Amino acid sequence: MSKNVLVIGSGFAGLAAATSLAQRGYRVTILEKNEGPGGRARVFQAEGFTFDMGPSWYWMPDIFEQYFARFGKKVADYYDLVRLDPSYQVIFKGAEAVDIPAAMNELRALFERYESGSGARLDEFLRQAAYKYKVGIGKFVHMPGRSLLEFADPRLVVDAVRLDLLQSMHKHVRKFFKDSRLLELVEFPILFLGATSENTPALYSLMNYADLVLGTWYPMGGMHKIVEGMVKLAREQGVTLEYNQEVEQIVVENGRTTGVQTAAGFRPADVVVAGADYHHAEQHLLAPEWRTYNEAYWDKRTMAPSSLLFYLGVNRRLDKLRHHNLFFDEDFALHAEEIYEQPKWPSRPLFYACVPSITDASVAPAGSENLFLLIPVAPNLPDPEATREHYYHLIMDRLERHCGHSIRDAVVYKRSYAHQDFQQDYHSYKGNAYGLANTLRQTAILKPSLKSKKVGNLYFTGQLTVPGPGVPPSLISGQVVAKEVEKEFPIAK
Ligand SMILES: Cc1cc2nc3c(=O)[nH]c(=O)nc-3n(C[C@H](O)[C@H](O)[C@H](O)COP(=O)(O)OP(=O)(O)OC[C@H]3O[C@@H](n4cnc5c(N)ncnc54)[C@H](O)[C@@H]3O)c2cc1C
Repeated sequence: MSKNVLVIGSGFAGLAAATSLAQRGYRVTILEKNEGPGGRARVFQAEGFTFDMGPSWYWMPDIFEQYFARFGKKVADYYDLVRLDPSYQVIFKGAEAVDIPAAMNELRALFERYESGSGARLDEFLRQAAYKYKVGIGKFVHMPGRSLLEFADPRLVVDAVRLDLLQSMHKHVRKFFKDSRLLELVEFPILFLGATSENTPALYSLMNYADLVLGTWYPMGGMHKIVEGMVKLAREQGVTLEYNQEVEQIVVENGRTTGVQTAAGFRPADVVVAGADYHHAEQHLLAPEWRTYNEAYWDKRTMAPSSLLFYLGVNRRLDKLRHHNLFFDEDFALHAEEIYEQPKWPSRPLFYACVPSITDASVAPAGSENLFLLIPVAPNLPDPEATREHYYHLIMDRLERHCGHSIRDAVVYKRSYAHQDFQQDYHSYKGNAYGLANTLRQTAILKPSLKSKKVGNLYFTGQLTVPGPGVPPSLISGQVVAKEVEKEFPIAK
């Protein structure tokens, strides 16, 4: 007999969990509070522009390919992927701008230009990173992290040493490079993981392999094309998606959930998978006696940063910008300190500018650019309009200086987005953008568990549980949780 599974939320994790379970014969319905799918990767249109609301870096194309392959499909069946070259542009202090090339020989030459001998060291650095990627992404991230026994395999112990779990990224990269620009270049990808390089295990140099070897890609039409592809696949597998269906309560009787409550009524289920922010699902949807963790536990977690975002329609071309632009023209360490150590609005933040219309004419009217600006900031800060405006002008000054012309007077559409919006739209804990940070103390079994310890048939998935933040990890999280459900609630054949 088949079983009814309710999935809360249609982010990457919820979609992956639902589709994987439907493929195995479960009757699956996704209940999503917003009017469309994708969660943090939603899209909106305004004044002829199409804005991706969240992720913009398409890394680890193999993870997406493997996902669609599980259903006998290919990425190309759902969207067209192009590799970007240059992968991105970095603007260092002193207004020095450098393109990061896709080709390895050009990258090596770039490293040599900054530091003699670093080309060969880059090869060794990436050789080690390739191993970490193979084992980390091929094996570790697929573990549910529910018991230490999962890690008892002696081969994994050997791997754990080579994986550099106990050394910090900060120390690791300094064995290879000294030039401050090269250090910034190899340390930037871990910003995605929500922690400083001192607090991030050197395992995560696997991100450098993803960045510099596997490359930066883009789905034509925008990042939301991934969501559209995943929704199509979900429907093909028989998943039902219902929007504007906010779950208000996970109903529990005698240690088992019987279903969920929405404004429209009670929805029965044999199993519930919560793909909404873990803190929200646990602390707000469950009665206190059924919560595994309490508020004090959550308050002690290191959250990944929030972001102040601007979605801008600009009615002129921005020739000095590339698709991805990292403004590292201020002090990296100071900004990191103001996010993690002394959380406050940053004094002189780094920022990121994305201009997808450089690759993709469909996301902006002819002759215009689609400009997305992102400043990583500490979670849990007040974000009034005046503060947002202050940062808008602060980064616009730097952007205009780099471009050599005014941009503000060409802005025909402007929308800002920060903590309050994350909370309102996704019930994000402390207004985080990227979930729970991947620090050493919040890795694998030390993350909030993907299975409730008190409610027998309640599971969690997404960027606040294993394996962590980012689109590929969320995609994997959904598949991992589906496997656990299948093991513990098999369908009688
Ligand atoms: C600005 C920004 C930039 C990013 N950039 C990148 C990038 O370039 N590359 C990358 O790989 N990753 C990036 N990320 C991270 C990535 O987007 C996330 O890790 C990923 O999308 C999280 O997916 P998820 O399924 O865990 O959660 P979510 O996408 O948050 O999905 C959760 C869903 O649950 C729904 N929900 C919440 N509460 C309820 C309720 N009570 N009832 C019903 N539904 C509910 C929400 O509406 C939402 O749709 C970025 C994130 C942000 C915010």
